[in-house]
Amino acid sequence: MTTRRLDGREVASHLRRDLEHRVQQLAASGEGSPPRLAIVQDGMSQGAGLYAASLERAARSVGVSTHLIVGAGPHDGAIAELNRDPGITGIVLAQPFADVGEGRRLVELIDPAKDVDGATPTNAGRLARGEPAFVPATALAVIAILEAFDIKVAGRRAVIVGRSAVVGRPVASLLLARDATVVICHRQTLHLARETRRAELLVAAAGVPGLIRPEMVNASAVVIDCGINATDAGIVGDVEFAAIAPFVSAITPVPGGIGPVTPMMVLRQTVESAERQVP
Ligand code: ADP
Repeated sequence: MTTRRLDGREVASHLRRDLEHRVQQLAASGEGSPPRLAIVQDGMSQGAGLYAASLERAARSVGVSTHLIVGAGPHDGAIAELNRDPGITGIVLAQPFADVGEGRRLVELIDPAKDVDGATPTNAGRLARGEPAFVPATALAVIAILEAFDIKVAGRRAVIVGRSAVVGRPVASLLLARDATVVICHRQTLHLARETRRAELLVAAAGVPGLIRPEMVNASAVVIDCGINATDAGIVGDVEFAAIAPFVSAITPVPGGIGPVTPMMVLRQTVESAERQVP
């Protein structure tokens, strides 16, 4: 049996067309605000800068305007202003901030109704309770890829490696909401390979290059790699793609898997937020 390569660029381009259409429809209706995404950044981290740039590019490609705020802060006033401004339908803090505690504090100031990267405790709580919520974009991208390739989730055993607030935990909630049986692994997991080998759906979100090796998967597994690790060899995932691909049923590449879908999820939630403002 040949392995399916789950191409995120293809999924992203379908999503882009759909979003472009929705943005045009909003404009044609003449009601509510056109979607507009604010991105707040402290200008210190290269990773945050790259995320902000990819969001701006993706926004342009679907016709959503952006408002970039870069500076050392404090950003309390700017966030309060963005919350009040009816022309702003989404607010994203490009993490990490140089001062991680400051990033976490500022996130809590975002109006949950504009929190289009699902970063506030309010949206995290709603998601954990199985209620409608804005969701961290990477976690949504996992679901978007599974849906795009018609991969069954209900009743299947999903093993997630990583329990971060931005990927592992929200992915677990989303898969649970879709009736998967969910196992979450982390640094203290005793026999990681024993857990991952039992996965029908394996989501790698540990931020460790090449963590998942061929002996850790079974032949029927669908492998979703959320890792984006900068190495001397370029960007690599958490999964040894070339070594594992021949031995599983489906797998996302890195780059070109989850990565291109993620900014589209922020944009989709920005557009949803704007659609809700239509009276
Ligand atoms: P990300 O943003 O990719 O989710 P974080 O650094 O925030 O990355 O979180 C990493 C997560 O991965 C943590 O929950 C940690 O327990 C898990 N993790 C890291 N290394 C390993 C490992 N060797 N085995 C299992 N889990 C790991």
